[in-house]
Amino acid sequence: MTTLLIDGKWISAQDGQTIDVINPCNGEAFARIDRGGAADIDLAVSAAQRALDGAWGRLTATERGRILLRFAGLILGHTEELAQIEARDTGKPITVARNDVAAVARYFEFYGAAADKVHGQTIPYLNAYNVSVVRVPHGVTAHIIPWNYPAQMFGRTLAPALAMGNAAVLKPSEDACLSALKLGELAIEAGFPPGALNIVTGYGHEAGAALTAHPGIHFATFTGSPEVGVMVQEATARNHVPCVLELGGKSPQVVFSDADLDKAVPVIVKAIVQNAGQTCSAGSRLLVQQDIYDKFVGMVAAAFRQVRVGTPEMDLDCGPIVNSKQYQRVSSFIEEAKASGVSLLAEGSLAPGLSSAGYFIKPALFGSVPRDHKLACREVFGPVLSAMSFVDEEDAVRLANATEYGLAAGVWTENGGRQARMAKRLLSGQVFINCYGAGGGVELPFGGVKKSGHGREKGFLALEEMSTTKTIVQYHN
Ligand code: NAD
Repeated sequence: MTTLLIDGKWISAQDGQTIDVINPCNGEAFARIDRGGAADIDLAVSAAQRALDGAWGRLTATERGRILLRFAGLILGHTEELAQIEARDTGKPITVARNDVAAVARYFEFYGAAADKVHGQTIPYLNAYNVSVVRVPHGVTAHIIPWNYPAQMFGRTLAPALAMGNAAVLKPSEDACLSALKLGELAIEAGFPPGALNIVTGYGHEAGAALTAHPGIHFATFTGSPEVGVMVQEATARNHVPCVLELGGKSPQVVFSDADLDKAVPVIVKAIVQNAGQTCSAGSRLLVQQDIYDKFVGMVAAAFRQVRVGTPEMDLDCGPIVNSKQYQRVSSFIEEAKASGVSLLAEGSLAPGLSSAGYFIKPALFGSVPRDHKLACREVFGPVLSAMSFVDEEDAVRLANATEYGLAAGVWTENGGRQARMAKRLLSGQVFINCYGAGGGVELPFGGVKKSGHGREKGFLALEEMSTTKTIVQYHN
């Protein structure tokens, strides 16, 4: 298999090395990808620059938009094939994978339609001057994405960049990148000229690090862990290019005693169980007002016991953890919490017949977690919910904001004034009131504050992130 898409052609890594792709449902290798490195990144960046200087750079915004729209149509036409690939690679339920594919198509549809609707400004200035501020692409953009929503991330990061006329180099995750490869094939069919979109598979410390440090890039966007986010920020700073970082969270669900509890329960459970908790905006802290704490946490526990974990074909609530390293990490959070005396209130169940070599974990609800406990503070990135109580609104704000992260937050209350106050005071990139959607739709700007990162993806703000401005001053007599 040749898995590097460079200059419109599929090629192998220069040094011929490969990486095995593991099925998380049984721990077995079922495919191989190329282990791209610095030499391959160099080829990809050069191809991207040639595309900018050539056919891709000469297209009008409308023509670019049409290619994105054609791509969206092709993605929808290959929904089942893409969903099967995504489900096998990540282990997620097939229905979820189908929804993810629909979301990728939606990214290209939204940004394809938006490509020729980005306007500039004119500025009144001195007599005899015309001043305009136009939006221009950065140039060659670097995109590094993780394994939790590989297909969706492909759309989220690339669609606005391509809509704005950048030429992109994508380094997908070594743990799940097969859907990105199929999408690359469809991109060629949609009509992206050679070099407009390049894909280099490989390890982060090799291909990823080479990409962010490459002198030929003009912008980078990264989604993944805070630790690697810091490395990307350092590398891009040395490279004098801007970067957008999306780094995860420890998002609170704040439930007041006047909330519609029946409505809240299924949404709160889904927000931590979905994708086996491997979602940056997973609602991983359940903060409940003390007078309803026992009752509400009991309701959530009952719902947790109904959660079932299985393979993609079983199509249950969630699948396995993505790889052995993450499996060990999530398991150790659970074991350490139990050993330190935190009470495990409820667990989901594993479907019968699962391979013992798969990375399946029972979703877990812990109660009365001490506020300074590791479980309450650190991102688990697994299906583990930590419940804690608060006294009043002031205490709720303090507790909700007592985290290094700030990606998303849920607030459950029927009191309109409190909804508005909480929305204002929560330190978070998104606030959901009486609802919770991991990231929300493509239309909604998404991104964090604090350790959750900086910059915004999705919505029209992504078009701004993926471009820069040029001020043109024309003197006339
Ligand atoms: P990671 O940060 O190691 O990897 C994310 C991407 O960065 C991958 O494509 C990887 O190859 C690449 N990468 C790794 N090292 C790099 C480097 N030095 N330079 C450039 N790119 C590099 O994340 P992970 O191992 O996949 O997951 C670990 C943790 O990251 C999780 O437990 C979770 O906390 C967090 N995470 C967050 C998100 C999110 O959506 N915010 C997604 C996945 C993982």
